[in-house]
Amino acid sequence: MQKIDSYDFSGKRAIVRVDFNVPLNENFQITDDTRIRAAVPTLKKVLEKGGSLIIMSHLGRPKGPTDKYSLKYIIGAIEEKLGTTVKFAPDCMGNEAAELSQNLRPGEVLLLENLRFYAEEEGKPRGLAEDASDDVKKAAKAEIKEKQKEFTKRLASYADCYINDAFGTAHRAHASTALIAKYFPQDKMFGYVMEGEIKAIDKVLHSPDKPVTAIIGGAKVSSKITIIEKLFDVADNMIICGGMAFTFAKAKGGKIGLSLCEDDQLELALTTLEKAKAKGVNIIFDGEVVVADKFSNEANKQTCDIYNIPDGWMGMDAAPSTLKLWENILNSSKTILWNGPAGVFEMPEFAHGTLRIAEILAQVTAKGAFTLVGGGDSVAAVTQMGYADKVSYVSTGGGAMLEYLEGIELPGIKAVKE
Ligand code: AMP
Repeated sequence: MQKIDSYDFSGKRAIVRVDFNVPLNENFQITDDTRIRAAVPTLKKVLEKGGSLIIMSHLGRPKGPTDKYSLKYIIGAIEEKLGTTVKFAPDCMGNEAAELSQNLRPGEVLLLENLRFYAEEEGKPRGLAEDASDDVKKAAKAEIKEKQKEFTKRLASYADCYINDAFGTAHRAHASTALIAKYFPQDKMFGYVMEGEIKAIDKVLHSPDKPVTAIIGGAKVSSKITIIEKLFDVADNMIICGGMAFTFAKAKGGKIGLSLCEDDQLELALTTLEKAKAKGVNIIFDGEVVVADKFSNEANKQTCDIYNIPDGWMGMDAAPSTLKLWENILNSSKTILWNGPAGVFEMPEFAHGTLRIAEILAQVTAKGAFTLVGGGDSVAAVTQMGYADKVSYVSTGGGAMLEYLEGIELPGIKAVKE
């Protein structure tokens, strides 16, 4: 495996998989350019070292070529950030893409159109009837896998070296994120985003300063249980918050009213608590919560104990007394990992707990703690508070981060390493 810092890019065309899946408003203006800014150091490095760039990304979830998901709308933003003009290939497979890439001169930049305009990128059949027979499904799958090989080979033919800098899709074995790497056995490497993500998560998993506190929030126990239990190996404290906490409270015999609850996970919640105890992890999911009389930002609110929520009310956020308790724990932690909101973050009335965590993390980072934040709502909270550069590391990949923390070898990482 090569390193971007030591690789000789002089006169070489680098095909770089970035994550430019940015949100656009109805006028096709970028409403959050974090992902583009994140990739700039990698892109600039290649240009500074005498290489040229072929940038490839997906945008949204198109089912085929759709103007709405065209990457042409972000050309201006890339040009502005790189300080150079960007050529555009309106079809990542077309003759134009091949010609433009062949003719790239050092310092020049080419952006390919949205990879997901082709089903080959993900390697999944499109347009299959719901009621298609298993045989039809199998044949369609085999066909798209064959086509995917051609697609991947074609992308690889544009360049002399490959850089994967898209952590957000590293958990997907797609053409551009993993399969392409084999065409560059001696000339493949991670970009700075990938390097940074891997380093930050590895630090938490393998060499954290103690004590370590993990804050895991969000809607469902079932989607986060593996990571919760995996983190018992490294965490001294585990704060479980958001909708998940109510399943734990009910499992312990609490009265949780209309709060979110996975009744089929109650047994599992109890087993998880046992495991935490056996491993000496201080697990906290209880305390006071803010409850509402309906699932609405306009609902009536009150504060009560998580074990004693009145009938007809539902837990929506962490209460101030609980946040104070968490603050004490976080103040004495040296390493903190946070993924998932402490409440219904989308509703401003119930976003206070999540925003307060962001604030506390910024404070403890200033005092020397290492803080790693990942997941859509948690990242939105630190960004909204203006703390994105006041925590140690903001992960660009929610799903990828969770899988990496679970100990799964991500296809995008494996393909470059092996
Ligand atoms: P996740 O995708 O698992 O990280 O969960 C994020 C979602 O959890 C957000 O949409 C939140 O609104 C939701 N959530 C957090 N706390 C609660 C709660 N107390 N009740 C219902 N939903 C919640």
